[in-house]
Amino acid sequence: MRKVVKFGGTSLAGAGQFRKAGGIIRADGTRVFVIPSAPGKRFDGDVKVTDLLYRCHDLAAGGRDFSEPFSAVKERYADIIRELELSLSLEDDFNTIEEHLKQAPEREYVASRGEYLNGRVLAEYLGFPLLDPAEAIFFDESGTFDAERTNAVLPARLEELPQAVIPGFYGSGPDGRVRTFSRGGSDVTGAIVASACHASVYENWTDVPGLLMADPHIVKDPPVIRSITYRELRELAYMGASVLHEDAVFPVKEAGIPINIRDTNQPEDPGTWIVGNTARRPPFTITGITGKKDFCSIMIARDLMHSELDFYRKVVQCFEEDGVPIEHLPSGIDTMTVVVPESKFVEREQHVLRKIARSVRPESVEVEPGLALIAVVGRGMRAQSGTAAKIFSALAEARINVRMIDQGASELNVIVGVLNEDFERAIRFIYRAFVGRG
Ligand code: ASP
Repeated sequence: MRKVVKFGGTSLAGAGQFRKAGGIIRADGTRVFVIPSAPGKRFDGDVKVTDLLYRCHDLAAGGRDFSEPFSAVKERYADIIRELELSLSLEDDFNTIEEHLKQAPEREYVASRGEYLNGRVLAEYLGFPLLDPAEAIFFDESGTFDAERTNAVLPARLEELPQAVIPGFYGSGPDGRVRTFSRGGSDVTGAIVASACHASVYENWTDVPGLLMADPHIVKDPPVIRSITYRELRELAYMGASVLHEDAVFPVKEAGIPINIRDTNQPEDPGTWIVGNTARRPPFTITGITGKKDFCSIMIARDLMHSELDFYRKVVQCFEEDGVPIEHLPSGIDTMTVVVPESKFVEREQHVLRKIARSVRPESVEVEPGLALIAVVGRGMRAQSGTAAKIFSALAEARINVRMIDQGASELNVIVGVLNEDFERAIRFIYRAFVGRG
């Protein structure tokens, strides 16, 4: 049994946090592959090492002096090394990075050094070898992760190593140059390593106790979700809940490996388990509630629209051609509604509306901005009758007008549209109806 453990930036922000991470790794001999992020914020207002490095790059690329952020980066590592009483020196590494910055700075290479250097420090602290992901995680020319090439190299490299520190966030392209994932991408590295070594679990150590049932800014003390399926997570994440990089789910989901979100500051807490399937019954009918504001609905009416087979396609095409993404398409008899993000629609609205008028000759078109969508998600909903009734009576009790309803065929979620100004109150009332407090 082998576990892959990834530590986020705040979990390795200073020597104290390194000690906690070290304690966690040493407490379980099966935690063999460790993925560090770059040092994150130590306190409110602090700057992440990755942000300092981007600043170094931008100054250097503009031919300006980058010594201030560069010294700040050096200091961050020097503090950690001194406080952990390590004998490691990063001087050669810093000379190489400085030379690179002076000559022809590459943004992704410079940004990746945060993880690389933290990997060096962590490897020294743990006594583990370092596996540089530039040698085993690959990207194609366009900068997209190259699974095929990675799978041909990474599993064999991991097989040779009983333990290793593998810095997150980067790999290399076909020309050997360093490429990075998008921000927060060390989560993705962890998932790739977990899948490559057939890990029993991918532990993602962070600074929160797990995924919460609702936004704590809206409801008071929402409980941690103890277990959630990948599909439920996808629904919640898409509608705004964030705990993991979006692309971190796919490699482990495919390999059937669970993800366990854990809190470095409360290592005894079980955290959140993200799994493919589970017989564990959720404590409430719903697993979580989330949502987003600022959508716009466009209701198109025309008698007997259903008798025209290409009606829907023509309408969808009008949005597609202008690059306006469609979020939902609830329909009625002789009406169809298109729900889109307001910011994407307003720029193109007159163009889109004109095209709709021309291509489907509607009887009426009504545009309503300022709509918020709330997603009520839960695998438990399928087995339980009356879930929708509960949601709507909660909203009726709050005297909130429901502008739109959409229940996916998966019976995993119910989406309700309310006005932006009712968003927080709607979430609070639905939450209370299912959880009974908050
Ligand atoms: N250090 C990178 C960032 O700040 C990647 C990561 O932390 O996962 O985005």
